Parts: sequence; C-alpha cells; structure tokens
Amino acid sequence: MLGGGQLGKMMALAAHNWDLATWALDTSKTFPAGSVVSHFVAGNFKNFDDVYNFGKQVDVLTIEIEHVNTEALIKLEAEGLKVHPSPSALNIIKDKGLQKEFYQKNNLPTSSFTLWENGEAIKQAIKDGQLKYPFVQKSREAGYDGKGVAVIRAEADLGSILSPASMVEDLVDIDTEIAVVVARNEKGEVKTFPPVAMEFNPVANLVEFLVCPAGLDEKIAKHAEELAIAAINAYGICGLLAVELFLTKNGELLINEVAPRPHNSGHHTIDSCYTSQYQQHLRGILNLPLGSTKMKAASVMVNLLGHPDYSGPVNYDGLEECMAMEGVKMHLYGKAITKPYRKMGHATVLDNDLNKAMAKAIKVKDTLKIIS
Ligand code: ADP
Repeated sequence: MLGGGQLGKMMALAAHNWDLATWALDTSKTFPAGSVVSHFVAGNFKNFDDVYNFGKQVDVLTIEIEHVNTEALIKLEAEGLKVHPSPSALNIIKDKGLQKEFYQKNNLPTSSFTLWENGEAIKQAIKDGQLKYPFVQKSREAGYDGKGVAVIRAEADLGSILSPASMVEDLVDIDTEIAVVVARNEKGEVKTFPPVAMEFNPVANLVEFLVCPAGLDEKIAKHAEELAIAAINAYGICGLLAVELFLTKNGELLINEVAPRPHNSGHHTIDSCYTSQYQQHLRGILNLPLGSTKMKAASVMVNLLGHPDYSGPVNYDGLEECMAMEGVKMHLYGKAITKPYRKMGHATVLDNDLNKAMAKAIKVKDTLKIIS
C-alpha cells in the first residue's frame, strides 16, 4: 500500500488475519502502519521513482491516500502489475474539478459548479457579476478534512478565498451528510455497507460522530446505496469507494465527493458489521468473494481528536474509564505526536438503542483527554 497512516494500519491488521504479507511506502516507520506491516519502505509516495521501485516488489498495489504519484502507477499497470484502484479513476478523483465533470457526464446527481484558474479569477468574476454569493470554493487538488474548502457567503468572506485552481459550487442547503461505503471485485460483484450519518465538529470542520444506521427514510437510504453502486460501476474501481452525499432539505441526494479506499465513515464496521471495510477492501482488490455487510449492532463512532490546546508527545488521560464502559471499543492509532484536532484514534460504541450509544460516545469524547 502507498501510505502508512491509520487506514494502512487497520488494513494491515485485517490482512494479517489471512496471513498475507503487507508492504507500506511512507516517510517514516514511526507512522501508524510502521509497527504492523510485514515490510516498511521509507520513501515518498508522491515521487515517481519511489512508487515505481516499490511497486516492482509487490504482487498487488493499493493506496490508503489519494495523493500519490499516478504516473508511476500507470507505468506499473502497463507492465502487468495489479493496481487497485485503477490509476485512471484515481486521476479523476484526485482532482475535484474532474470529479464533478465525471458525475455530470455519467448523469450522477451533484450540485452545479464552475471551474476557475485561481482565486484572483474568482474575485474578478464576482466584480463582473458573473459569480454570485453564496458559494463554496474548493481547491481542485490536495484538499482533505475541510482544508481547501472556503464557504463564501458575502463580501466580508472575500479574504478567505483560496488562491489555487478551484472548483466553485452552489452552497447546498444540507439536511444530513451521509456516506455509503461500497465495494466491488474484478468479477463485478458489488456490495454496499448501510449508510452512515456524519456529524461535524463545527470549529475543526471535521467529522466527529458517525451514526449507523443513519435513521434515514427507507427509500432515501436505498437510493443512496444505488447511487454509490452507480458511482463505483462508472469508475470501474475494485476495492472500496466511500461516497459522501448531501441529503438536501428538499429530500434530494447529491454526491459531494468520493474516496477510493477505506474511509473514516467505515471505521465502525470493524466492530459493528460481519465484515469490516478493511477486509472488504482486501476482498475487492484480491478478487475474492465480497463479505456480508450485515450489521451485528447499531453503532456510533466518535473520532478522537487531539486537544485544541496541545501539540507534542501524546498522553491519553481517562483511557481506563472509557474502556470500562460497556460496548465501547477503543482504537488508538499510535501517532507519537498530538496536534490540535489531529485524528489520534476512534471509539466505536455498540448499542441498538442509538440514543444510549450517542450518550456514551459523548461521554467518551468528554472523558478521554489527548494531551502532551
Ligand atoms: P474535504 O475533501 O476537505 O473533506 P468536502 O468537500 O467534504 O471537503 O467539504 C467539507 C465540508 O464542507 C462538507 O462535509 C460540508 O460540511 C461542507 N460543504 C462542502 N461542500 C458544500 C456545499 N456545496 N454546500 C454546503 N456545504 C458544503
């Protein structure tokens, strides 16, 4: 796998259950996956030579982060290596502008958008009356966790306009943000996990709680799953595709963006589903039968974020108290350094009474202090 973060760590742990050897390429063996993969290779997944040389040593190549060198992946694929997700799909997904054009071409619902060369062009378009408030600006490349997203509601927000090449879209009147993780193998078998509802930390603009089942109207839930299936088939991806959608106040579903890999919105599946998203990703990329996505229990997942006031070597205060709560499963990623709002771990709370699960998830969040 390219990348050695927490997603790589959890993927390697799933592979270990099947006695598969895993290799990871990333900057430092101290990263989360470093302690669990069979072989860690130090290098830069954005560098052509590092990716190419790494790929030459493995049987199947996958990713845990999108921002990798796709030229090397294209060459490796042409030379016969199995690369999942396919580099051509990855090239589209890495660029938010190309992603939106892809949905438009494939008749997949998404909000209206325009593409701009840079922030200055956007400001000029506002002056010329070509672009009207409110809108959302997203840098085309390298955005994650809300970085690279600016909500521009009025003139007072013009200072927040980002400088790089961007996609500008309508500000959507969102009722609920949901995600559907879907998997596909080379035989074309496809399976979805049940939709989850995402609740954000308003300051960090990061997902804080994920609730599954999402409490959606049955028809809407089914439609969300159908859209996820249509998206993975259109991309022709093997492995996982996490599809983030907006349910609008009018009851419409719009695709926001996708990630062709295990995703934060699927962490709960480790504890709450028959098959975890990590095992499902492996089944997809290795062309094995996809596993059942049935739920064993309803769950609320809470991201454990670094304390807003601390940076430095990490300590976990209150961990034992959290572990003592029934149905609470703690997952720590093993990052040596904590930073404000850094994703340091997650907890999955299992309880078929979702109100109780949410109350416990809030208790975990308030009890566990990630400090230095
Ligand atoms: P990232 O790739 O950084 O996660 P997203 O596209 O998911 O960026 O945007 C981050 C968050 O910003 C979304 O989860 C949502 O809350 C808000 N957002 C994004 N696009 C829109 C939009 N068009 N209208 C309203 N809110 C939006």
